[in-house]
Amino acid sequence: MGTPEDEDGEGVQRPAYGRDVEMNLFDAVRAQSSNPVQPVKLGANDSFCFHCHKGVSCWNVCCHGADITLPPYDILRLARYLHLTPAEFLEGYTVPAEHAESGMPVVKIKMSGGDGKGACPFMDEAEGCRVYDFRPSACRYYPLGLISVKMKDAEAKEDFHFIVREDHCRGHAEAKTQSVAEFRKEQGVERYEQINRGWIDVLMKLASWRSLGGVMGKEPSAQVRQMFFMVSTDVERFRRFVFDSRFLQIYAIPEEALELAAKNDEALLQLGFDWLKNVLFNEPTLEMHEKVLQDAIARARTEAGGV
Ligand code: SF4
Ligand code: SF4
Repeated sequence: MGTPEDEDGEGVQRPAYGRDVEMNLFDAVRAQSSNPVQPVKLGANDSFCFHCHKGVSCWNVCCHGADITLPPYDILRLARYLHLTPAEFLEGYTVPAEHAESGMPVVKIKMSGGDGKGACPFMDEAEGCRVYDFRPSACRYYPLGLISVKMKDAEAKEDFHFIVREDHCRGHAEAKTQSVAEFRKEQGVERYEQINRGWIDVLMKLASWRSLGGVMGKEPSAQVRQMFFMVSTDVERFRRFVFDSRFLQIYAIPEEALELAAKNDEALLQLGFDWLKNVLFNEPTLEMHEKVLQDAIARARTEAGGV
């Protein structure tokens, strides 16, 4: 299947966050194994041995009890494929959860069984993944995990992979050798990374601030958490918010960008990530209308006791 999954396996060392390093363990540890992560940093040209195919004795094992957080683009693609609205998809196939490092609300695929250890709703016993071309990022990466690291003052983040070797997965014993770059291409992860990047950036920042009690020492409010959840999970609701609320009276979005966001879900997601960065971290990702800006400055001065 070239499948699963992600995070929070027992015994996995979670990164320690601080203001000097932003780090995100993006995926791909299953819950069954006690310490499946091999702490070896793999670059694009490093090779590893792995092959997942219908003939393996563990076929479908990994699609049970899998812990799969769904980033925004993953939700968008799955909902589209199933001809569902994002809200219908969320209702039918996900459970609410908390992103461990940032504490923000996210959703995970709802596994069957009362204890969540049953089969993935998209699994077919004989054929494997029924949504293969639309499968989530975490299923594409497996058995690679991805870590993004940004050192203080560094311009860009550095991504690297590591191997997740779980006892039940026999794919590691197969003879096929490939480089990380070849595997990533075969699994089609790049488009997912490209679109989800802004969302991951927000989570990484929130996680790094969390050790200081939240952004500027404040935990995100219930309203901020709701905003984050809306952008992360329901692009249609966010579109209504942009076009039917006071959003456009507050923000001066260039005409062209607005037209694109009106009809293109991926563009709308980028607008959503920019909005979150502006609201959460005061980044200059969106411009406010001059009058709104002046009013906000005047209000801030008054609150600070100035004139
Ligand atoms: S989405 Fe597909 S690959 Fe991923 S756990 Fe479900 S059945 Fe397996
Ligand atoms: S456990 Fe490993 S080899 Fe077996 S089906 Fe899942 S990914 Fe493929």
